[in-house]
Parts: sequence; C-alpha cells; structure tokens
Amino acid sequence: MGQVSGRQERSKKPEVALSETMEAEIEVQNNKKEIEEVKAKNPKLTSVFGVADLKNEAVGLYNLGQTCCLNSLLQVFFMNIRFTGILRRITVPSSAAQKRSNVPYQMLLLLEKMQCGKCKAVCPRDLAYCLSEHRVKLFVQYDAAQLFLTLWNLLKKQIRKPELVEELSDLYTICIQEHLACQKCSFEIKSNSTMLTLPLPVLDANSHRLSTLEDCLQYFFLPEELTGQNMCFCQQCGKKTTFLQSMRLVHLPQTLTLHLKRFCFERSSRTHKLGHFLQFPQELNFREVLTEDQCQADDSEKATWQYELFAVVAHSGSTGFGHYCAYIRSLTECKWYCFNDSEVCQVSWDDVKCTYGRSSLNWRETAYLLFYMKKHPQQPCPGVSECL
Ligand code: ZN
Repeated sequence: MGQVSGRQERSKKPEVALSETMEAEIEVQNNKKEIEEVKAKNPKLTSVFGVADLKNEAVGLYNLGQTCCLNSLLQVFFMNIRFTGILRRITVPSSAAQKRSNVPYQMLLLLEKMQCGKCKAVCPRDLAYCLSEHRVKLFVQYDAAQLFLTLWNLLKKQIRKPELVEELSDLYTICIQEHLACQKCSFEIKSNSTMLTLPLPVLDANSHRLSTLEDCLQYFFLPEELTGQNMCFCQQCGKKTTFLQSMRLVHLPQTLTLHLKRFCFERSSRTHKLGHFLQFPQELNFREVLTEDQCQADDSEKATWQYELFAVVAHSGSTGFGHYCAYIRSLTECKWYCFNDSEVCQVSWDDVKCTYGRSSLNWRETAYLLFYMKKHPQQPCPGVSECL
C-alpha cells in the first residue's frame, strides 16, 4: 500500500474554464417540427418532466469500451428533470454534418432513444463519435470530474440560445468570493469567481483522513495563511508579505456538484486512490456546516441552501484501472437506482452507503462525485416538490 503523500492540494481555482474545443460556429435553425412531435405525444408531461423520467423503468447504456465514466455522467444528466427541461428546448442543427457534431443534439437523440421504451439498454455510439470529434477520445478511461467539466463546457458552447445557456449556468454554477488579506497592514483583495464543482480535499493539512462530507466542506472553507514561498506582493506595504486567503460562499445552484478528491497526486508523479471511510448525508444544510464568516450571502439566499442527495458517481478499482457507476434517486418515483452501464437495478439507501469506502479495501467502490439538489428552489418545480 502506498504511503499517503503530504498535504493534499487545496486547489481552489475556478473550474469553469473555457472549453478546450474550438469548433466552427454552427449555423442552426429551429426545427420546430421535431419538438412539436414529442410534445404531441404527451403535451402536459413533457413540459414538466424530462423524457427519461416519463418511463417507469430506467434504461441502461451499453459500454463501448471504457465508456462507463461517460455512461454514468450521462445518466446523472438525464435523470435531472431540470437539465432535460433545458435540453428539450435546444435549437436543432440544420444540416446532417452539424447534427452529427453537435453534443447537445446528440444527447437529446440518445435521450429519446432511451425513452422509446423498447430496450432495457441503448448504445451511445453516435454521441461517443460526436464527442470524439471534440477531442474526447474513445476507449480511454476518463476521470469523472474532468469529463463532467468537459461535457458541461461542450454543452454550454454548443447550445445556441443564450437564454438556455444562462439556465444551464444557473442550474450548475457555484459563486465564490475569494479574500486575500495582508497580515501586516489592512490591504485586502476580493474577487468573485464561479465553479462547476467544489473540489474537496479528503485529507487535512496534517494528512489526517477526513471522515465526513461536512468536515471536508469545513476544511475547504478554512482560511489559509500564505507564508514562505506562497507570500504575495502587498502594494500597500510595497513588498511580499504573509496573506490570509479565505473563501466565502456567495451563491449555490439548484444542482450542486461536490468532488471528493480521492485521487492523490504524489511528488513522484504517481497517483493513488484514497479509499478511506467518508460518509455523506442524504440531507445537507450549508447554513449548519459553514460559519457566518464563510458566507457572503443574505438570509433569503441562505434559506435556499438546504439540499437533498440526488446522485453519486462511484469509482471502484485503482487509479489506472477502474470502473464507474452511478447511483441516482429518481425524482419522480423517489427510488434509488444503480446504473452500471447496461445493467440498471433498484437499490436501497444502504446500498448507496456502501460507497462511503473502507480504508482496508481501497479498490472497493467509493463515492467520487456527489450531486445534491435544492429542497426548496426559488422557482418551484412540480416534478420535484411532489416527492419532497
Ligand atoms: Zn500590506
């Protein structure tokens, strides 16, 4: 067993980066016909629920070779009725070539294929080929946090309607204020940034294992003294001084993504997995987790910081060789499902808890990405409120 490395990097850099893909602008026109056809099938339901949620049974996705990571993330997207609500309103590309290379459109087609109800699993081949046109290669094992960011950036870049891009951002983006305060004088720098996930260290500064999600969040928001090599230049003092760096939470989105940094990068450039026990709650209230100093929000914003667990993307195996699956709570049925590529089965909360991890069994299944949903959204959604 490899030795746990020293301090885990608390990289707090904004994760919403520009997409690395540079695709030519696609000229599109609204193909109302296709949308009308779907609406005609069941006008009331499709306006409220995403397509995947209309089905009684969840549908699997075949593994094309190392696509378990992609499959898990797709299921998390598709089971989110707010996301499918956005996807269903995209502009359909006009030409066949544009359709082939448009990620949101290919995701919509796959969703419809899953919804048609004829198969227990469908093949995400067209979407996988579409992604390979955007540098997401086939037959490569991805890190789920990285692939989630890549997919999200591709969606944001290729959705043509500005109002839908805004909705997508509102659905997933976390707003943070970073404070840097000189410890010699009163000089202070504040900057706002947005993040797609909160990258939470699972070890503290002394390499002690954090054993609850709340501890990880508290550690993430703990102020950090920047000394020695990390000192910053203070324009008031005219020299490099010790700064206190702190993060303040400004806004939390409807769907909140938390990334447990279980893959540990050592100085030797080898990575290993931290599989220790780390529990996470079904209900999470940020007001109870963070102190007043760690928030930069008014009471009406904070009142919405109550969450319920929606999905867990879990990893089993080692860093170089592993497998992903997704545990997702159906928002329409309020039941947990395990999506393991083409196999989908109903599971219990106890099954989900098995992803807490165990120190002695690092290869065992451990939660890697956690998706929480707001319990009391500002704009009530009938689909969600029914089962809460
Ligand atoms: Zn200063």
